[in-house]
Amino acid sequence: MKNTVTGILAHDELLKEDIIQLLKTDVKERNIIYQKSSEIKEQYVGKKAYYRGLIEFSNICYKDCLYCGIRAGNKKQERYNLTDEDILKAAKFAHENKFGSIVLQSGEREDKEFINRIDNLLKKIKQISNNELGITISLGEQTEETYKRWFESGAHRYLLRIESSSKELFEKIHPVNKKHSFERRLECLYALQEVGYQTGTGVMVGLPFQTLEHLADDLLFFKSFSIDMVGMGPYIEHQETPLYEFRNTLLPLNERFNLTLKMIAILRIMMKDINIASATALQAIDPAGREKAIKIGANVIMPNITPTIHRTNYQLYENKPCIDESADDCGNCMEARIHLAGDEVGFGEWGDSKHYYKRQKI
Ligand code: SAH
Ligand code: SF4
Repeated sequence: MKNTVTGILAHDELLKEDIIQLLKTDVKERNIIYQKSSEIKEQYVGKKAYYRGLIEFSNICYKDCLYCGIRAGNKKQERYNLTDEDILKAAKFAHENKFGSIVLQSGEREDKEFINRIDNLLKKIKQISNNELGITISLGEQTEETYKRWFESGAHRYLLRIESSSKELFEKIHPVNKKHSFERRLECLYALQEVGYQTGTGVMVGLPFQTLEHLADDLLFFKSFSIDMVGMGPYIEHQETPLYEFRNTLLPLNERFNLTLKMIAILRIMMKDINIASATALQAIDPAGREKAIKIGANVIMPNITPTIHRTNYQLYENKPCIDESADDCGNCMEARIHLAGDEVGFGEWGDSKHYYKRQKI
């Protein structure tokens, strides 16, 4: 019985070989997975999607990840850094439009000036929103001391993707040197949990050299780490990066897209009460991509509220969507799309990870 999709899904615990089989499913079979993941979502986290207004405030980065369009080595990339005023304006917009939370994201920097700046911004955002706006940050690898400082200043969730839970694959998609290390990435994730953040991680799906085994291990990694939030998106090649050389070895875009949806659905079945984000990169492949992810298990969506003039310069990958829409347009279009997916928007709510609170009680 166990080797049919229905048989596999009847068991509580998914083993690696089960996950691989689920990842291999065809159109008909994968609908059985989606049906189940969608029911689990409704039962455990509700038919609600939460907004996180995404502010990509700077593309200045001192790292050189081999997949990313804003890596330090891409000298063709024009660099920008929003003023504090612009960031606060975007945060205000999110607050006034009842987005509930924002995400501050940028390229990676570990210098004192940057650390102090974030610290100040966090305090100010809390102040201007009467402590009402939830703040997620996604600012890469930092020391535990820095994580602690930012936590105390008001950030309560952190996103740091492991990118791949396989050390071997991680080292194929990053230069191996002091600045890029698998061990440091792991240490940072442990430090974030230790400090008390709702901790989020994730991987790219469809990377060069990546196998279904790697992806199954990624899902098992999230589970064993007891992660609170996950963001997974398809890998999309960027011309000005070293990995572009391997573009002919990749799955076609629509297959990377389908594989990402399957990863999201299987994860929802494995980790019923976590928050799962519907990655923007899904929309770069299919205009309705993010809504499809909401339908089958994701419950967080991140409308871009970065001032429009800077959006063209935050292209981690090619064909990034919504770079010419204003924040207003983005929010409105998103709400309509979420309704189409059959969900309500959790306006004015933080939409915290239920898993996090359960983890605190143990
Ligand atoms: N500098 C921070 C945050 C910005 S990058 C950090 O690295 O954590 C945010 C995410 O964008 C990365 O974690 C990576 O998974 C994703 N990303 C980068 N390049 C990409 C590409 N070519 N295709 C898809 N996602 C990409
Ligand atoms: Fe910098 Fe993040 Fe891109 Fe790596 S993924 S180059 S750390 S912005």
